[in-house]
Parts: sequence; structure tokens; C-alpha cells
Amino acid sequence: MVEETELWDKQKSVRDLHMDAYNPERGPKPEPEPEPESWLELDEEERIFLTETYHRVARIKLPNMTAHAALHAIVENQIALNLEPVVRAMHRLRKEGLTRHDAVHAIGSVVAEHLFDLKTSKNDDAADSQTRYHAAVERLSAASWGRGEQ
Ligand SMILES: [Zn+2]
Repeated sequence: MVEETELWDKQKSVRDLHMDAYNPERGPKPEPEPEPESWLELDEEERIFLTETYHRVARIKLPNMTAHAALHAIVENQIALNLEPVVRAMHRLRKEGLTRHDAVHAIGSVVAEHLFDLKTSKNDDAADSQTRYHAAVERLSAASWGRGEQ
């Protein structure tokens, strides 16, 4: 029989590992290739917490840290779930010279617009809005993001 405290310790060490591990320059894990499973094992709150912590430690000042971290978490989720337009955008933006962190921000800016779009357009079906989001991500380039078009 496993002691409850033992289980808790295990969970805690896994958590600490992730704490050290989230770095948007590398993805959710310290290995060169992000491991989607470990990111997806975390719950949403933990993902946001890790992302916030990263920005604090890296001393990146942001007007709304929680909103920013939530965007990071959404983008990381989509990459971990292998959402093709997002995965393609990530490769394209990296090739165009953005750091992984900037590429996450660029995709995050499309996510933010999409969320705004969902809030403001009422009688809209979800599939339509999904299609629009995918199309916007496909159009995203380092240049369009740099010009503030996205
Ligand atoms: Zn960021």
C-alpha cells in the first residue's frame, strides 16, 4: 500500500520538475523536442502558473500577466495536441527567424483576436469561427506580426 504522503511527494516533485521545465524557448520540457504528453498531463491552472512563473523569473514585464500566460497555455496546448495550422505556423515563424517565445506570442495574438471574435459575434457557429481561426493562423508570418497586422 502506498502512503498518501508518498503519493503527494511524488506529485510535488513532478510539479517542481515542470516548474523548472517550462521555458517557451524550449517548449514545455528541457529536451530539445517538447514532450506534449507531459504538458497535457498538467491541468490548466498549472500550465498558466508555470507560464506566469517563467515570465516573472525572466523579468518580462507585461500589462496583464495572467491573460498573457493564458494565451501561452492555449498555444502550447494546440501545439501539444498537434493542431496542424498552429504546428505549421510555428515551423514557418521559426524559419522566418522568430524565437520560439516570439512565435508563441505571434500565434497568441491570433488566439486573442479569435477569442474577441467569439465574444462579439453572437449567432455564429463554432465550426465557422474555428475555420476563421485556422485561416488566420495560416496567414500569420513574422512580417505580418511585426507590422502589427495580427
Ligand atoms: Zn510570453
